[in-house]
Order: sequence, then C-alpha cells, then structure tokens
Amino acid sequence: FMLLTKKLIEVRNVLNSIDHNDTLKLPSIVVIGSQSSGKSSVLEAIVGHEFLPKGSNMVTRRPIELTLIHTPHTKEEYGEFPSLGLGKVHDFKRIQETLRDLNMAVPESECVSSKPIELRIYSPNVPDLTMIDLPGYIQITSKNQPISLKEKISELCEKYIQEPNIILAVCAADVDLANSEALRSSRKVDPLGLRTVGVITKMDLVEPERGVAILRNQDYPLHLGYIGVVCRAPGGSSKENITQAVIKTEDAHFRSSYQYSQRGVFVGTGTLRRKLMDILEENMGSNLGSIIKAVQRELDETRYQFKVEYNDQKMSAESYVAESVDKLKHRFKDFSRAFGKPQVRLEIRHMLEQRMLDICAQRYWSDPRINELPQLDSSSTPEEDRLYWDLQLDLASSALTKSGVGRQTTQRVVDILSRTMEQLAEAEPFNHHPHAADTIKTMTHEILSSRSQATADQVENTIKPFKYEVECTDGEWTEGVKRSIALVQTELEMCEDALAKIKTTVGTKKLRKAINFVIESDREEARRAQRREAVAKLRESNPRQYLEDQVRPSRDSPSESTEPHGEHSQDDDTPAQEDDRSVREDEDELEAAMRPHFNPKLLVKAREALSLRDRALILKYRLSALKSKTCKNSKNKAQCPEAFLAVVAEKLAYTSVMFIQVELMNEFVFQLPRMIDSRLGVKTGQEAMEKFARENPLVGKHLELMEKRMKLEEVWEKLNYLVRRQEEAKARKW
Ligand code: GDP
Repeated sequence: FMLLTKKLIEVRNVLNSIDHNDTLKLPSIVVIGSQSSGKSSVLEAIVGHEFLPKGSNMVTRRPIELTLIHTPHTKEEYGEFPSLGLGKVHDFKRIQETLRDLNMAVPESECVSSKPIELRIYSPNVPDLTMIDLPGYIQITSKNQPISLKEKISELCEKYIQEPNIILAVCAADVDLANSEALRSSRKVDPLGLRTVGVITKMDLVEPERGVAILRNQDYPLHLGYIGVVCRAPGGSSKENITQAVIKTEDAHFRSSYQYSQRGVFVGTGTLRRKLMDILEENMGSNLGSIIKAVQRELDETRYQFKVEYNDQKMSAESYVAESVDKLKHRFKDFSRAFGKPQVRLEIRHMLEQRMLDICAQRYWSDPRINELPQLDSSSTPEEDRLYWDLQLDLASSALTKSGVGRQTTQRVVDILSRTMEQLAEAEPFNHHPHAADTIKTMTHEILSSRSQATADQVENTIKPFKYEVECTDGEWTEGVKRSIALVQTELEMCEDALAKIKTTVGTKKLRKAINFVIESDREEARRAQRREAVAKLRESNPRQYLEDQVRPSRDSPSESTEPHGEHSQDDDTPAQEDDRSVREDEDELEAAMRPHFNPKLLVKAREALSLRDRALILKYRLSALKSKTCKNSKNKAQCPEAFLAVVAEKLAYTSVMFIQVELMNEFVFQLPRMIDSRLGVKTGQEAMEKFARENPLVGKHLELMEKRMKLEEVWEKLNYLVRRQEEAKARKW
C-alpha cells in the first residue's frame, strides 16, 4: 500500500506551490552528515545515478529538495527543475552541472543560502520519496572560509530537521560516532531518536565486529535503527543505473561475514530504501489527520476570502483575455458606427472650407479692388475688369483643387483613426498592458500605412476633373451660397470676438488713442511717401527746375551749380538726397517725441485691432453681397467667389469621402477586429494569456486566489480519498 506516499507526495508538491508560509507541511526525509561522510554517495545509490555536484570547494550551498517519483510503466529516467522550466533533463550529467551552477550562484560572501533548489526525478527504479539534501557539516574552518560558515550550516540544517521531517543522519563507519555532527544535531531536536535513522557508510573500511557494534549502537539508540551501507560508486558509464551494482557489491561484502546476518542488524542500500519508504509511509499516514485539518482550515479561509473579495466570481486568464479583447472590439465598433460616412464628410468638408476661407482672405478680402466686385454685372464695367475677376476666380478655384486634396484628406482620416486607437489602447484595461497597447498601435499603423498611399492616389485621381472645370446645378449653387453665408458669418463673428477681446484687455479708451495714433502716423507716412514720390517725379521730368528750386545759399558752390549733370563723388550727397534725409531726420525727431506715450506692444495691438476692424468691415460687406439678388443667380460666379468656392469644396469633400470610405475606412473596419483576435485574443495561447492576465494586478490576485482554492479543493479530495482507503485497509485487517 505504497499508494499513500505517492499520493501524498503529489499533495505535497501542490501544497508547496500555494503555501508560502509553511503552514501545510508533509514530512520529508532530511539528509544530514559531515562533509565526506558519504552523504552524496548514499543519495546517488538510492537514485541510481551520479547527479550531485562534487568537489572540495563546498559544492552544496543550498538545500536540494529532491522528489523521487516512481514510474513503473516506463523505462524513461529523467529529472526536472520545476522552477527553471528546462523541461525533461535525461542526461544526469546535465542535472549535475545545473545543480553546480545553481549552488555556485550563491555568492561566496553568503556561503550558504536557505533557498531550496527543487529537483524531481522520474524513474521506474526509484521509490516514491521526498528527500532534502543539505550542505555537509564542516569540522574545521579553512583559511578562506569565514568563521561563521560552520554556524550558518548548522542553523540551516536545524531549520530543516524540525518536525514532522524524518532525519537521515549519515555517519562514516571509520569515524567515531561520538564525534558525529549529524547525530549530535539530531539529538537536539529528536532526543528520543523517534524520527531519526542512522546510516553508517563506508562499512568496508571497518572490521565486521566493529561494524556490527556500531550498528547496535548502545550509546545513542535510535528507535528507527542504524543501517550499514557500502556506497562507493562503482564508476561505470553514467547512462547505467548504479543501484543494482551498489547492492551487488554490498551483498558480496556483507555475506562474507556471518556477523552481518545476525538478527537486528540491518545492512545494504536495498534495505535502506525499503526502510525509508516504510518510515515515510507511516509518518505520512500518521500526519494525515493533522494535514487534513490544516488543509481544511486553509480551504475555509480561502473560500471565505474569495467570497468576500470577489463575490465568488470565477476568473481565468482566458476569460479575462476574451473580455478585454471584446471590450476593445466593442469600443471600436461603437466608434466606427459613430464615425461613418457623414462624420467623415463633415471632417473633410470642414478641412476644405478652412482652406477655402484662407484662399478668400488671400485672394479677395485683401484685394483693394474688392469693393468693385458687386458692380461687376453692370453693363458699364470694362471688359478688362471682367477678365481680372474671372482670372481671380480661376486661380482661387485651382488653389483649392490643386492643394493636395488626396493626401491631405486621407491624412486627416488616418489621423483621426490613429488618435482614436491610441485612446482605446491607453484606456482600461489596456493601461495595464503596455505591450498589448503597443500591439494595438502597431496594428493600426500597419493597416493604415498599407492603405493610405493608394487611397490618397485614388482620391487625387477622382477629383482630377475638378481641377479643370467645376460645373454646378442651381440646387448646388443655392446650397453653396447658403454655406458660404454661414461661413463668412462665423468668420465675421470670430473677427468681432477677437476685436472685443483686444478691447477688454487693453481698455477701450487706451485702445482708441493708440488706434488714432497709428492712423495718424500712417497718414503721415503716406504723406511723406507722396512727397518723396512727387520729388522723385520732378527730379526725373525736369531736373533743372528741380535744382533751381532746391538751391540754397550755403550749397551755392560754383562747381555744383555749373555742373548739374556731372558725376559726384560717392561721399557727397546730391541735394535731393540731402533733402530727403533732412526731412527724415526731422520726422524721426518728431516721432521720438511722440513715441514714449505708447509702448510698442500696445501699438502692435492697435494695428491688430485696426486690421480686424477692416476685415470685419469687408466681411459685412461680403455678407450683404452674398445675400443680395446677384448671388442668387449661379451665373454670377465671379461676383460671389465665396459661394462658388463653397460649391467646389463640397464637391471635393463628397468625392474624397466616397473613396476614403471604400479604400481606407471599410478596409480598416474589416481588418482591425481580425488582427485584434489573432494577435491579442485567445489564439495567442495559454502561456501568453496567463502573462497578459497577470499584468493586471487585480486580475493577478484574483487568479491566484482562485488557483489556491482550486488546488486546495483538489488536495482536500485526494486526502479524503486516502483516509477512506486507510480505513478500509484497517477494517480488512480486523
Ligand atoms: P559527502 O561529502 O558526504 O557527500 O561524501 P561523498 O559521498 O562525496 O563521499 C566522500 C568520499 O568517500 C568519496 O571519495 C567517496 O568515494 C568515498 N566513499 C563514499 N562511500 C564510501 C563507502 O561506502 N566506502 C568507501 N570506501 N568509500 C566511500
């Protein structure tokens, strides 16, 4: 009935994975002994392979938790390091190397670490056992080992040899047992020797009489007894199992002396293995009751916590992933529904109308001849003027149609989509998953960049006809007029708002004064310019007269008056230049005298206000023109450029959107959810999902508690099954 140990070892492994505070403990066999007592040899004889690192330089620095799992139905033998994720390791040399690396990773300064290395060995040749190998006790501290090392090892061993563990005290036959550090330590925690087994190694090194005397140790009797072994490795190929070879050597040795066949004398590795299995089985059995109680307590606690904290709500990495992906897809769907063709058109139209207003401002509203525009239809208008305004309209329309509409409208939509996806990627729950958020952005970018060039080209192609001619129906014209009125109206409001803002920040009075000053100095500037122009004209048309006018007594030198056309040296100014400069100097003085009242910033504001006022005036004027009878007629395009450009803008928007919708939007809406599924969804595999779910701390905690509850329930089931089996067995015995 070795099932108990096997099942309980399984239970132990499960409990180890959830219990970090050692409340749920099943007994294990702890191996202690002095350095070179033959500890490793004993363990290897039991396992059947050399797998422990050897060498003089303190090779065991961490406890090795060794779980042996008997696998009767297979020949395969291998080890596993559960926390390293190396998978099955079939080569025991590699296990040895891995153990050495793990031990050597403990820094020299720490010497020993209490963090155990977990190792499982699966083999048809091993019994079901859990053993813990500890660093060997050292006798003398060598020069380069710190004094405290001895104590550190003792402390570590002491921690492990506590109840309910079984102690395997390894002593060499050729060393006096009174000096055995292993026995001394075990006596401290198990004075009656109830859970200590003595293993006497190197029995081949002592005479049978002495050997038997050791095994019958009277000084320190052990309830579980002493077993003598000869475990020197036979040294063969590392692939072969050494257990049988060891047993064969032992048999030969112990059979050669009759003393070893006496009653109450136990020898041989085979005996040791059986004994250990029996002891562990019995110990586990007697611990069953208390461990069930402990598991029950833990389970109750966990269930309660689960109810209180999570209202018994189930959670799995998969469901969390599915939920997160669904959320994303839903939000995207909501967005794509809300951002349909009409919204895209609105965006694009808005963009084009802004462009159109810029063009109007540039080409019309700052044209000094703009006031002539409404009179254009009168028969008295010269042909030249008509041509001028027709050309203006053509240029304005081209400026709109040839402004890279394809690229810019496409880019506008690409920007909106990217921005939206960025927002979705940064919102709950993806704020916990930076990697997934990046993936969302990457996917978005991939789809959009694969489509945008083609879309832009397509749009550009389809609006091509508008670059040459834009025809419009009366209906379209009426709409265009309406929209242009609205646009100019908003433009006007913005203008007035800006003006009002300047007024409030500067103060009406102060602003008016500054404006007056600006106007005055502008006028002055204009007058001066006029004068300069007149002077220049005069100088050109009638130089003599001009000179006569300019002659002054001080400058009446003969050379100058007799040679008016002669070359002057560069240093000398002509009288005209002199005159110009003196005028300018006077003016500068005048200005300097006036300036201090107005600081330059104020003057800038005043100019701004002035131009806003002018712009508002023109806009008002244009507004009434657009509302006039003239603009009701679609033939009068030249008089109503705003209306015509609005028609063009609308046509461009309509056509662009049609193709953007087909080439970009539809494609995006189709591809994205599929990409989300394949790159973020449940298809990414269990491992990726677990990683994803645990990135969210709340979900991670939830999952951990769920897992704990599940494992405890599983353990609970197993334990109860074992109890029932035990009771049945007892009943049969009776
Ligand atoms: P550990 O330091 O306690 O792990 O000891 P080892 O298992 O490494 O053994 C120390 C030395 O004793 C090695 O050279 C082994 O070959 C040798 N040894 C181990 N067991 C026996 C044995 O039963 N008989 C003899 N003669 N030598 C042994």
